[in-house]
Amino acid sequence: AITIYTNEDIKPGAIAGQRIAVIGYGSQGRAHAQNLKDSGHDVIVGVRHGGTGWKHATEDGVPTAEPAEAVRGADVIAILTPDMVQNEVYRDIIEPNAKPGAALLFAHGFSIIYHRITPRDDMDVILVAPKGPGDLVRREFARGRGVPSLFAIERDATGKARDRAMGYAKGIGGATGGLLETSFREETETDLFGEQAVLCGGAKELVIQGFNTLVDAGYQPEIAYFECLHELKLIVDLFYEGGISKMHHFISETAKWGAVASGPRVITDETRARMKTVLDEIQSGQFAREWIAENEAGKPKYEALLTEDRSSQIEQVGARLRDRMAWLQTAKQAAA
Ligand code: NDP
Ligand code: MG
Ligand code: MG
Repeated sequence: AITIYTNEDIKPGAIAGQRIAVIGYGSQGRAHAQNLKDSGHDVIVGVRHGGTGWKHATEDGVPTAEPAEAVRGADVIAILTPDMVQNEVYRDIIEPNAKPGAALLFAHGFSIIYHRITPRDDMDVILVAPKGPGDLVRREFARGRGVPSLFAIERDATGKARDRAMGYAKGIGGATGGLLETSFREETETDLFGEQAVLCGGAKELVIQGFNTLVDAGYQPEIAYFECLHELKLIVDLFYEGGISKMHHFISETAKWGAVASGPRVITDETRARMKTVLDEIQSGQFAREWIAENEAGKPKYEALLTEDRSSQIEQVGARLRDRMAWLQTAKQAAA
Protein backbone atom coordinates (compact mmCIF):
# COMPACT_ATOMS: atom_id res chain seq x y z
CA ALA A 1 0.00 0.00 0.00
CA ILE A 2 1.05 3.57 -0.63
CA THR A 3 3.01 5.37 2.12
CA ILE A 4 1.09 8.17 3.78
CA TYR A 5 3.60 10.71 5.06
CA THR A 6 2.83 12.88 8.07
CA ASN A 7 4.60 15.86 9.62
CA GLU A 8 7.14 13.64 11.47
CA ASP A 9 8.32 12.17 8.15
CA ILE A 10 9.40 15.56 6.83
CA LYS A 11 12.86 16.87 7.56
CA PRO A 12 12.68 19.78 9.98
CA GLY A 13 13.71 22.89 8.08
CA ALA A 14 13.17 21.18 4.71
CA ILE A 15 12.61 24.60 3.15
CA ALA A 16 14.12 26.78 5.89
CA GLY A 17 15.39 30.10 4.61
CA GLN A 18 13.83 29.67 1.18
CA ARG A 19 11.66 32.41 -0.19
CA ILE A 20 8.37 31.25 -1.72
CA ALA A 21 6.60 33.24 -4.43
CA VAL A 22 2.95 32.34 -4.92
CA ILE A 23 1.82 33.54 -8.35
CA GLY A 24 -1.96 34.00 -8.43
CA TYR A 25 -4.25 34.56 -5.47
CA GLY A 26 -7.38 32.63 -6.40
CA SER A 27 -8.81 29.47 -4.88
CA GLN A 28 -5.48 27.67 -4.29
CA GLY A 29 -3.13 30.67 -4.15
CA ARG A 30 -5.02 32.35 -1.34
CA ALA A 31 -5.00 29.22 0.82
CA HIS A 32 -1.38 28.25 0.09
CA ALA A 33 0.02 31.73 0.72
CA GLN A 34 -1.81 32.27 4.00
CA ASN A 35 -1.00 28.80 5.33
CA LEU A 36 2.69 29.07 4.36
CA LYS A 37 2.92 32.47 6.01
CA ASP A 38 1.28 31.19 9.21
CA SER A 39 3.73 28.25 9.14
CA GLY A 40 6.54 30.81 9.41
CA HIS A 41 7.75 30.81 5.79
CA ASP A 42 8.95 33.83 3.85
CA VAL A 43 6.10 34.23 1.35
CA ILE A 44 5.44 36.83 -1.29
CA VAL A 45 2.33 36.82 -3.46
CA GLY A 46 2.67 37.82 -7.12
CA VAL A 47 -0.52 39.58 -8.18
CA ARG A 48 -1.50 42.13 -10.78
CA HIS A 49 -1.97 45.51 -9.16
CA GLY A 50 -5.65 46.44 -8.87
CA GLY A 51 -6.94 42.92 -9.62
CA THR A 52 -9.16 40.75 -7.43
CA GLY A 53 -6.21 38.69 -6.19
CA TRP A 54 -4.32 41.83 -5.25
CA LYS A 55 -7.35 43.15 -3.37
CA HIS A 56 -7.81 39.91 -1.40
CA ALA A 57 -4.10 39.56 -0.59
CA THR A 58 -3.98 43.13 0.67
CA GLU A 59 -7.06 42.53 2.85
CA ASP A 60 -5.50 39.32 4.21
CA GLY A 61 -2.28 41.13 5.08
CA VAL A 62 -0.05 38.93 2.92
CA PRO A 63 3.01 40.65 1.33
CA THR A 64 2.43 41.30 -2.39
CA ALA A 65 4.40 42.40 -5.43
CA GLU A 66 3.87 42.52 -9.16
CA PRO A 67 4.29 38.94 -10.45
CA ALA A 68 7.71 39.52 -12.07
CA GLU A 69 9.00 41.23 -8.93
CA ALA A 70 7.77 38.36 -6.74
CA VAL A 71 9.56 35.80 -8.94
CA ARG A 72 12.92 37.60 -8.66
CA GLY A 73 14.76 36.28 -5.64
CA ALA A 74 12.33 33.43 -4.97
CA ASP A 75 13.64 29.92 -4.35
CA VAL A 76 10.28 28.23 -4.87
CA ILE A 77 7.81 29.63 -7.40
CA ALA A 78 4.28 28.26 -7.11
CA ILE A 79 2.32 28.82 -10.31
CA LEU A 80 -1.30 29.00 -9.14
CA THR A 81 -3.03 30.76 -12.00
CA PRO A 82 -5.64 28.99 -14.18
CA ASP A 83 -4.07 26.17 -16.18
CA MET A 84 -4.85 27.75 -19.54
CA VAL A 85 -2.73 30.89 -18.89
CA GLN A 86 0.21 29.16 -17.18
CA ASN A 87 2.21 28.94 -20.42
CA GLU A 88 2.11 32.72 -20.89
CA VAL A 89 2.80 33.38 -17.20
CA TYR A 90 5.81 31.06 -17.38
CA ARG A 91 7.13 32.52 -20.65
CA ASP A 92 6.66 36.21 -19.84
CA ILE A 93 7.06 36.38 -16.07
CA ILE A 94 8.79 33.34 -14.64
CA GLU A 95 11.45 32.24 -17.11
CA PRO A 96 13.07 35.67 -17.54
CA ASN A 97 13.09 36.41 -13.80
CA ALA A 98 13.60 33.12 -11.94
CA LYS A 99 16.98 32.74 -10.30
CA PRO A 100 19.13 29.73 -11.24
CA GLY A 101 18.12 26.59 -9.37
CA ALA A 102 14.68 27.83 -8.38
CA ALA A 103 11.85 25.30 -8.10
CA LEU A 104 8.74 25.60 -10.24
CA LEU A 105 5.80 24.23 -8.26
CA PHE A 106 2.42 23.26 -9.70
CA ALA A 107 -0.88 22.25 -8.09
CA HIS A 108 -1.92 20.33 -11.22
CA GLY A 109 0.32 18.78 -13.85
CA PHE A 110 -1.56 19.82 -17.01
CA SER A 111 0.98 22.37 -18.28
CA ILE A 112 3.87 19.90 -17.96
CA ILE A 113 2.18 16.71 -19.16
CA TYR A 114 0.77 18.37 -22.26
CA HIS A 115 4.03 20.24 -22.96
CA ARG A 116 2.59 23.71 -22.51
CA ILE A 117 5.64 24.63 -20.42
CA THR A 118 9.21 23.39 -20.79
CA PRO A 119 10.96 24.62 -17.66
CA ARG A 120 14.55 25.81 -17.89
CA ASP A 121 17.08 22.99 -17.31
CA ASP A 122 18.36 24.43 -14.06
CA MET A 123 14.93 24.40 -12.39
CA ASP A 124 13.37 21.78 -10.12
CA VAL A 125 9.87 20.82 -11.28
CA ILE A 126 7.58 19.71 -8.47
CA LEU A 127 3.90 19.40 -7.63
CA VAL A 128 1.83 19.80 -4.48
CA ALA A 129 -1.90 19.25 -4.94
CA PRO A 130 -4.31 19.32 -2.01
CA LYS A 131 -7.29 17.04 -2.60
CA GLY A 132 -9.78 19.81 -1.91
CA PRO A 133 -10.75 23.35 -2.83
CA GLY A 134 -8.76 26.29 -1.49
CA ASP A 135 -11.28 27.42 1.10
CA LEU A 136 -11.20 23.98 2.75
CA VAL A 137 -7.38 23.96 2.63
CA ARG A 138 -7.39 27.25 4.53
CA ARG A 139 -10.23 26.42 6.92
CA GLU A 140 -8.79 23.07 8.00
CA PHE A 141 -5.34 24.59 8.50
CA ALA A 142 -6.83 27.33 10.68
CA ARG A 143 -8.32 24.58 12.87
CA GLY A 144 -4.94 22.88 13.21
CA ARG A 145 -5.90 20.17 10.74
CA GLY A 146 -5.19 19.68 7.04
CA VAL A 147 -6.48 18.39 3.72
CA PRO A 148 -4.76 15.23 2.36
CA SER A 149 -2.40 16.22 -0.43
CA LEU A 150 -0.37 14.72 -3.24
CA PHE A 151 3.20 15.57 -4.14
CA ALA A 152 5.34 14.67 -7.13
CA ILE A 153 8.82 15.26 -8.44
CA GLU A 154 9.12 15.66 -12.21
CA ARG A 155 12.71 16.87 -12.19
CA ASP A 156 15.29 17.19 -9.43
CA ALA A 157 17.88 19.58 -10.86
CA THR A 158 19.27 20.79 -7.54
CA GLY A 159 19.10 17.74 -5.28
CA LYS A 160 16.62 19.70 -3.17
CA ALA A 161 13.43 18.99 -5.11
CA ARG A 162 12.03 16.39 -2.72
CA ASP A 163 12.65 18.49 0.40
CA ARG A 164 11.12 21.47 -1.33
CA ALA A 165 7.96 19.63 -2.33
CA MET A 166 7.52 17.94 1.04
CA GLY A 167 8.40 21.09 3.00
CA TYR A 168 5.92 23.16 1.01
CA ALA A 169 3.23 20.51 1.41
CA LYS A 170 3.80 20.50 5.17
CA GLY A 171 3.61 24.30 5.21
CA ILE A 172 0.11 24.29 3.74
CA GLY A 173 -1.10 21.60 6.18
CA GLY A 174 -0.93 18.78 3.65
CA ALA A 175 1.15 16.49 5.87
CA THR A 176 -1.26 16.96 8.78
CA GLY A 177 -3.94 15.66 6.41
CA GLY A 178 -1.60 12.97 5.05
CA LEU A 179 0.80 13.26 2.12
CA LEU A 180 0.85 10.76 -0.76
CA GLU A 181 3.46 10.56 -3.51
CA THR A 182 2.35 10.46 -7.12
CA SER A 183 3.76 11.47 -10.50
CA PHE A 184 2.80 14.42 -12.70
CA ARG A 185 1.24 11.97 -15.15
CA GLU A 186 -0.82 10.09 -12.59
CA GLU A 187 -2.04 13.28 -10.89
CA THR A 188 -2.99 14.94 -14.17
CA GLU A 189 -4.70 12.00 -15.83
CA THR A 190 -6.61 10.84 -12.75
CA ASP A 191 -7.69 14.38 -11.89
CA LEU A 192 -9.04 14.97 -15.40
CA PHE A 193 -10.72 11.57 -15.51
CA GLY A 194 -12.34 12.00 -12.10
CA GLU A 195 -13.80 15.39 -12.88
CA GLN A 196 -15.03 14.32 -16.33
CA ALA A 197 -16.36 10.81 -15.80
CA VAL A 198 -17.48 10.84 -12.18
CA LEU A 199 -17.53 14.06 -10.22
CA CYS A 200 -18.53 16.97 -12.42
CA GLY A 201 -19.53 15.32 -15.69
CA GLY A 202 -20.90 11.91 -14.71
CA ALA A 203 -22.75 12.92 -11.55
CA LYS A 204 -24.30 15.96 -13.20
CA GLU A 205 -25.52 13.96 -16.18
CA LEU A 206 -26.90 11.19 -13.96
CA VAL A 207 -28.93 13.79 -12.06
CA ILE A 208 -30.24 15.52 -15.18
CA GLN A 209 -31.19 12.30 -16.97
CA GLY A 210 -32.89 10.88 -13.86
CA PHE A 211 -34.89 14.10 -13.54
CA ASN A 212 -35.81 14.07 -17.25
CA THR A 213 -36.94 10.46 -17.05
CA LEU A 214 -39.41 11.23 -14.25
CA VAL A 215 -40.67 14.47 -15.83
CA ASP A 216 -41.14 12.83 -19.25
CA ALA A 217 -43.19 10.11 -17.54
CA GLY A 218 -45.56 12.81 -16.24
CA TYR A 219 -44.35 13.33 -12.67
CA GLN A 220 -44.21 16.85 -11.23
CA PRO A 221 -40.80 18.47 -11.82
CA GLU A 222 -40.57 19.70 -8.21
CA ILE A 223 -40.96 16.17 -6.90
CA ALA A 224 -38.42 14.92 -9.43
CA TYR A 225 -35.98 17.64 -8.34
CA PHE A 226 -36.05 16.50 -4.72
CA GLU A 227 -35.55 12.87 -5.66
CA CYS A 228 -32.80 13.27 -8.23
CA LEU A 229 -30.78 16.31 -7.13
CA HIS A 230 -31.58 17.51 -3.63
CA GLU A 231 -31.24 14.17 -1.87
CA LEU A 232 -27.98 13.33 -3.60
CA LYS A 233 -26.14 15.34 -0.96
CA LEU A 234 -27.34 13.06 1.82
CA ILE A 235 -26.02 10.03 -0.04
CA VAL A 236 -22.70 11.66 -0.94
CA ASP A 237 -22.20 12.69 2.69
CA LEU A 238 -22.57 9.04 3.70
CA PHE A 239 -20.03 7.94 1.03
CA TYR A 240 -17.66 10.64 2.25
CA GLU A 241 -17.97 9.72 5.92
CA GLY A 242 -17.91 5.95 5.70
CA GLY A 243 -17.82 4.73 2.13
CA ILE A 244 -20.44 2.69 0.36
CA SER A 245 -20.99 0.52 3.47
CA LYS A 246 -22.11 3.52 5.50
CA MET A 247 -24.72 4.35 2.88
CA HIS A 248 -25.92 0.75 2.94
CA HIS A 249 -26.19 0.98 6.70
CA PHE A 250 -28.39 4.08 6.69
CA ILE A 251 -30.84 3.44 3.87
CA SER A 252 -33.93 1.24 4.00
CA GLU A 253 -33.93 -2.44 3.09
CA THR A 254 -35.97 -1.61 0.00
CA ALA A 255 -33.55 1.12 -1.09
CA LYS A 256 -30.66 -1.26 -0.59
CA TRP A 257 -32.25 -4.00 -2.69
CA GLY A 258 -33.13 -1.49 -5.41
CA ALA A 259 -29.59 -0.13 -5.33
CA VAL A 260 -27.87 -3.45 -5.84
CA ALA A 261 -30.46 -4.79 -8.28
CA SER A 262 -30.95 -1.71 -10.49
CA GLY A 263 -27.74 0.35 -10.18
CA PRO A 264 -25.71 -1.95 -12.46
CA ARG A 265 -28.55 -1.88 -15.02
CA VAL A 266 -28.25 1.91 -15.27
CA ILE A 267 -24.47 2.18 -15.28
CA THR A 268 -23.63 -0.69 -17.60
CA ASP A 269 -20.67 -2.21 -19.43
CA GLU A 270 -21.44 0.30 -22.15
CA THR A 271 -20.98 3.15 -19.68
CA ARG A 272 -17.71 1.54 -18.56
CA ALA A 273 -16.57 1.41 -22.19
CA ARG A 274 -17.43 5.11 -22.59
CA MET A 275 -15.47 5.89 -19.44
CA LYS A 276 -12.51 4.10 -20.95
CA THR A 277 -12.83 6.20 -24.11
CA VAL A 278 -12.77 9.36 -22.00
CA LEU A 279 -9.64 8.04 -20.27
CA ASP A 280 -8.00 7.09 -23.60
CA GLU A 281 -8.54 10.64 -24.88
CA ILE A 282 -6.98 12.09 -21.73
CA GLN A 283 -3.98 9.76 -22.03
CA SER A 284 -3.44 10.37 -25.74
CA GLY A 285 -3.54 14.14 -25.30
CA GLN A 286 -6.65 14.48 -27.47
CA PHE A 287 -8.69 16.03 -24.67
CA ALA A 288 -5.96 18.58 -23.95
CA ARG A 289 -5.56 19.46 -27.65
CA GLU A 290 -9.30 20.02 -28.01
CA TRP A 291 -9.55 22.13 -24.85
CA ILE A 292 -6.56 24.26 -25.87
CA ALA A 293 -8.03 24.74 -29.37
CA GLU A 294 -11.39 25.65 -27.81
CA ASN A 295 -9.65 28.32 -25.72
CA GLU A 296 -7.82 29.65 -28.77
CA ALA A 297 -11.13 29.91 -30.65
CA GLY A 298 -12.64 32.04 -27.86
CA LYS A 299 -14.57 29.14 -26.25
CA PRO A 300 -17.75 29.17 -28.40
CA LYS A 301 -18.64 25.52 -27.80
CA TYR A 302 -17.84 25.79 -24.10
CA GLU A 303 -20.20 28.76 -23.73
CA ALA A 304 -22.96 27.05 -25.72
CA LEU A 305 -22.78 23.84 -23.67
CA LEU A 306 -22.70 25.73 -20.38
CA THR A 307 -25.73 27.76 -21.43
CA GLU A 308 -27.55 24.54 -22.27
CA ASP A 309 -26.89 23.20 -18.74
CA ARG A 310 -27.87 26.46 -17.08
CA SER A 311 -31.13 26.82 -18.98
CA SER A 312 -32.27 23.24 -18.41
CA GLN A 313 -35.61 22.69 -16.67
CA ILE A 314 -34.01 21.27 -13.54
CA GLU A 315 -32.22 24.58 -13.00
CA GLN A 316 -35.40 26.63 -13.12
CA VAL A 317 -37.29 24.27 -10.87
CA GLY A 318 -34.35 24.10 -8.45
CA ALA A 319 -33.90 27.86 -8.08
CA ARG A 320 -37.48 28.28 -6.95
CA LEU A 321 -37.32 25.43 -4.45
CA ARG A 322 -33.98 26.45 -3.00
CA ASP A 323 -35.33 29.93 -2.27
CA ARG A 324 -37.41 28.26 0.42
CA MET A 325 -34.52 26.46 2.10
CA ALA A 326 -33.46 28.88 4.80
CA TRP A 327 -30.14 27.12 5.53
CA LEU A 328 -29.06 27.60 1.92
CA GLN A 329 -29.78 31.32 2.08
CA THR A 330 -27.35 31.73 5.00
CA ALA A 331 -24.69 29.72 3.13
CA LYS A 332 -25.21 31.96 0.08
CA GLN A 333 -24.72 35.11 2.17
CA ALA A 334 -21.60 33.69 3.84
CA ALA A 335 -20.07 32.84 0.45
CA ALA A 336 -20.80 36.26 -1.06
P1 NDP B 1 -7.94 30.59 -9.97
O1 NDP B 1 -8.72 30.65 -11.21
O2 NDP B 1 -8.68 30.71 -8.69
O3 NDP B 1 -6.72 31.65 -10.02
C1 NDP B 1 -6.96 32.96 -10.27
C2 NDP B 1 -5.71 33.77 -9.96
O4 NDP B 1 -4.83 33.72 -11.09
C3 NDP B 1 -6.08 35.20 -9.73
O5 NDP B 1 -5.30 35.73 -8.66
C4 NDP B 1 -5.72 35.86 -11.05
O6 NDP B 1 -5.33 37.20 -10.94
C5 NDP B 1 -4.49 35.05 -11.45
N1 NDP B 1 -4.23 35.18 -12.88
C6 NDP B 1 -5.06 34.84 -13.89
N2 NDP B 1 -4.48 35.12 -15.08
C7 NDP B 1 -3.27 35.66 -14.80
C8 NDP B 1 -2.22 36.16 -15.59
N3 NDP B 1 -2.28 36.14 -16.92
N4 NDP B 1 -1.12 36.67 -14.96
C9 NDP B 1 -1.03 36.69 -13.61
N5 NDP B 1 -2.00 36.22 -12.80
C10 NDP B 1 -3.11 35.71 -13.39
O7 NDP B 1 -7.05 29.26 -9.98
P2 NDP B 1 -7.22 27.95 -9.09
O8 NDP B 1 -6.74 28.22 -7.71
O9 NDP B 1 -8.56 27.33 -9.32
O10 NDP B 1 -6.17 27.00 -9.84
C11 NDP B 1 -4.78 27.18 -9.72
C12 NDP B 1 -4.10 25.85 -9.98
O11 NDP B 1 -4.47 24.93 -8.95
C13 NDP B 1 -4.50 25.18 -11.29
O12 NDP B 1 -3.36 24.53 -11.78
C14 NDP B 1 -5.57 24.19 -10.87
O13 NDP B 1 -5.70 23.10 -11.75
C15 NDP B 1 -5.00 23.75 -9.54
N6 NDP B 1 -5.96 23.18 -8.58
C16 NDP B 1 -7.11 23.85 -8.30
C17 NDP B 1 -7.99 23.37 -7.36
C18 NDP B 1 -9.21 24.16 -6.97
O14 NDP B 1 -9.86 23.75 -6.01
N7 NDP B 1 -9.56 25.25 -7.61
C19 NDP B 1 -7.73 22.09 -6.67
C20 NDP B 1 -6.43 21.53 -6.95
C21 NDP B 1 -5.60 22.05 -7.90
P3 NDP B 1 -6.41 38.41 -10.81
O15 NDP B 1 -7.00 38.28 -9.44
O16 NDP B 1 -5.56 39.60 -10.98
O17 NDP B 1 -7.41 38.20 -11.89
MG1 MG C 1 -9.41 17.53 -8.92
MG1 MG D 1 -8.93 19.47 -11.92
